[in-house]
Amino acid sequence: MSLFSKVLALTALAGLLAGGAYVRAGRALGPSIDLHGPERYVGQTSVLDFSVDALEGTITSVEAVLQQGETRVPLFSLDAPGEARVEQETLGRIRIVRRFDRNVITGVTEGAAQLTVTAIRPTFYGLRQALTSLRHPLELRFEPPRLTVLSSQHYVNHGGAEMVVYRVTPTDVESGVLVDEQFYPGFPATSAGITGADDSRRVAFFALLHNQDLHAPMHVFARDPAGNETRVDLDHRTFPKNFRRRRITVGDDFIQRVVPAIAEQSDAARALLSNVPEDDLVTRYVRINTDLRQENAEYLLALAEKTEPRLLWQGPFRQLGNSQVESGFADHRTYLYDGREIDQQVHLGFDLAATANVAILASNHGVVIHADFLGIYGNCVVVDHGMGLQSLYAHLSSIGVQVGDAVAQGQEIGRSGMTGLAGGDHLHFTMLLHGRPVTPIEWWDPHWVEDRVARKIARANTP
Ligand SMILES: [Zn+2]
Repeated sequence: MSLFSKVLALTALAGLLAGGAYVRAGRALGPSIDLHGPERYVGQTSVLDFSVDALEGTITSVEAVLQQGETRVPLFSLDAPGEARVEQETLGRIRIVRRFDRNVITGVTEGAAQLTVTAIRPTFYGLRQALTSLRHPLELRFEPPRLTVLSSQHYVNHGGAEMVVYRVTPTDVESGVLVDEQFYPGFPATSAGITGADDSRRVAFFALLHNQDLHAPMHVFARDPAGNETRVDLDHRTFPKNFRRRRITVGDDFIQRVVPAIAEQSDAARALLSNVPEDDLVTRYVRINTDLRQENAEYLLALAEKTEPRLLWQGPFRQLGNSQVESGFADHRTYLYDGREIDQQVHLGFDLAATANVAILASNHGVVIHADFLGIYGNCVVVDHGMGLQSLYAHLSSIGVQVGDAVAQGQEIGRSGMTGLAGGDHLHFTMLLHGRPVTPIEWWDPHWVEDRVARKIARANTP
């Protein structure tokens, strides 16, 4: 630092500057340095990434060093870039990228360290040199999280859900279950009613979705803020289910009733239909059945992020009283109009027969997170039961609750109807896990709820 007569060192936390840089150092004469990463932690797979801008000059020197106590680890030198990639970003601006992990920084231990990047450019016709130095505190963290699965006998039906209890340390990591690449976050075990649990214990609900492979890999997964990851195989068995195939004929009466009604009530539908002629009702219908369905599914995914991080429900979920099941979960439906096939969809819920204006009751305790018209679902209520679980009630003639209302099992939340894509008065009901449909049959079944959830929680409660 004392090599030059006019040394100024600046370390500035500059937030989000242009170019995504979050740390920048620079002054009028010296080059500017933008550190793109790492921000705080150095882990097993970190990358050092920074840019140096000579400000209409040439850069004569760039050095990067990691310092921990007396130990200095050279990371980069413009004279000898080694394995680092040096890119000319613009005239006078270069970007340096290199591996920055345990294998390349030896002699240091886990804990605090400091990164120093120094850059020099000549000024005054090369008579003087201007220097900028950026100093950035880092935390070295190499040990990956540790995971232990505590529950046993994980039985997963195709299209259904399951629960796991596990332990993860340290506790400041994100963790959960990966089914293939689908992630289901874990929640503190105490939030599931597991008493006396230290904060390393977690509970996660997860699912094998109807459209996933029966042999999809299942892991318990954890990642710490330094990016270190751990995956352990989740011991489990899966069971195939027969998804039915049905052919559904849609008639003019149906299309003429539902298409204009949905377009009238849904901004999203109007946007999707804006380039389809008013009189082409069949195309408009298919657009609703396909694109609006997709958009509604994405809305439900985003909505699920509002889930309460604790279990709000208790015991089996309640099915609409005396209802006949009209349609199974994940029916593959082929839609026919005038004898020709116009669309195919998977029906992700149960249609429960009802007469008009029957009281629709909350299937379990929870909090209302949606109470409004929702595209193909018509008037729709979604109740959050916590830890990623929701129930959805569609095609209602009227809604009797508001977002934020706490509802008890059996409490009326609306009246049955045929709004949205409904051929007649019925309740379309489904369970959602983190916004993705899972079969409700399991949640209605007292034995399943006892075996898959309650017993595991009880077992985890015994020391
Ligand atoms: Zn339905």
